[in-house]
Amino acid sequence: MTEQSQAQPRVEIYTKDDCPYCEKAKDLFDSKDVEYEEYNVTDDEELFEEMVERADGRKTAPEVFIDDELIGGWDDTSALEETGELDAKLGLADESSDDDEIVEHRPLIIAGTGIAGLTAAIYAGRANNDPLVIEGDEPGGQLTLTTDVANYPGFPEGIGGPELVNNMKEQARKFGANLKNGVIESVDDSTDPFRVELKNGDVYTADAVIAASGASARTLGIPGEDELMGYGLSTCATCDGAFFRGEDMLVVGGGDAAMEEATFLTKFADTVYIAHRREEFRAEDHWIDRVHEKVEDGEIEIMKNTELTEVHGSQEEGVDYVTLVENDEGHPTDRLDDPETDEFEFDVGAVFLAIGHTPNTGYLEDTGVEMDADGYLETQGGEGGGQTETDVPGLFGAGDVVDYHYQQAVTAAGMGSKAALDADEYLDDLERAESAGEIEAATADD
Ligand SMILES: Cc1cc2nc3c(=O)[nH]c(=O)nc-3n(C[C@H](O)[C@H](O)[C@H](O)COP(=O)(O)OP(=O)(O)OC[C@H]3O[C@@H](n4cnc5c(N)ncnc54)[C@H](O)[C@@H]3O)c2cc1C
Repeated sequence: MTEQSQAQPRVEIYTKDDCPYCEKAKDLFDSKDVEYEEYNVTDDEELFEEMVERADGRKTAPEVFIDDELIGGWDDTSALEETGELDAKLGLADESSDDDEIVEHRPLIIAGTGIAGLTAAIYAGRANNDPLVIEGDEPGGQLTLTTDVANYPGFPEGIGGPELVNNMKEQARKFGANLKNGVIESVDDSTDPFRVELKNGDVYTADAVIAASGASARTLGIPGEDELMGYGLSTCATCDGAFFRGEDMLVVGGGDAAMEEATFLTKFADTVYIAHRREEFRAEDHWIDRVHEKVEDGEIEIMKNTELTEVHGSQEEGVDYVTLVENDEGHPTDRLDDPETDEFEFDVGAVFLAIGHTPNTGYLEDTGVEMDADGYLETQGGEGGGQTETDVPGLFGAGDVVDYHYQQAVTAAGMGSKAALDADEYLDDLERAESAGEIEAATADD
């Protein structure tokens, strides 16, 4: 539980239109009842320059300031939130982080407020399982990064990702789910009930846990990446594309996300280049067709069998150019010694990485839960009930953290509903076993 222990410091947030991370930052402060001043830099060159200057040259929104101190973008803000430092800066004393004090017991805790977690929360709320849903460091999940969801059933005109997520949050709350900011650090399955510890030190117990923690954007680990992330290098075209209007842009990847991001970026870019390490794209035909239309219009150029090996630039000036390698056989970084591998420099003003995701399962590492080689949760699957059960009784998995193949909002929703139904059955069995035990004990006492 938090309480205001001193006058609230001044919070300022620079935002722009169509910026999911700006919405996340605002939602975070709203959830704390903290007032802030919002400066929308869209189409306001002067305000944009002011933001860049105050944010030490960073050209990405949001930028958050507390009492004139630069906190940074969404990643920096949510990192401070995870450790409890944000509350300290805001003068919100955290009274509940005593080491061994259990904040609360819940029948069910759900990790994640993406589509899987929220669908599970709706079902679990309706089943009176009193779910506590922990938001994680990406409240609303990946779908908040897209402005146009055209394939979610029931919305013939399409719907914005943040709007769909907010509707689901409202629906979950309506059925009694509680949503809480925070990131789960660990789940202990050696205790009964489960012990669920958040990064800020809060500890909850739960009879059942649904892991709906999704997957996070991958990076390449190449030189220049850490330094320039947020300074012209990004993993979110919808968030940052508009900042590089008129520039040549490079998208790295060959799946759906890369095709969608490249298509979206044609709104702003001079030319969008797609670098893909193989000959064939992995994306759905729909996206490949859209990209080819843009190629025909001269808005996109495809660089096949090409990989990015370095990003050059500075935090002051942004991305200047990149180093690429190309080999007709594909996977050129595996063939650097091959004389056929061509290394060359290429001028672009912004780079967007769209190279897949890593499942968020670190907090389950100390449990006995089975994962595949890439860290995706193994669940029962198959037909009939119990499909979302893991090998740890009471621990269920749903959405992209399990499903490395489909990774769609509607499949995540389907798995979320299954996990809540499986958890409900588990909790019912548990309750029945407990009351049978009590009756047996009472009979033995007589
Ligand atoms: C740019 C983009 C566009 C897309 N467009 C579409 C589309 O048009 N149609 C479509 O069907 N799909 C689309 N997708 C895919 C879709 O967004 C995902 O399949 C879906 O969001 C998966 O939902 P999820 O709930 O499994 O996981 P996620 O959405 O990844 O949500 C995971 C949640 O878990 C939380 N979490 C992570 N770690 C922890 C932790 N330790 N403790 C607590 N919580 C944690 C996160 O904060 C987050 O809230 C798109 C994806 C992207 C990136």
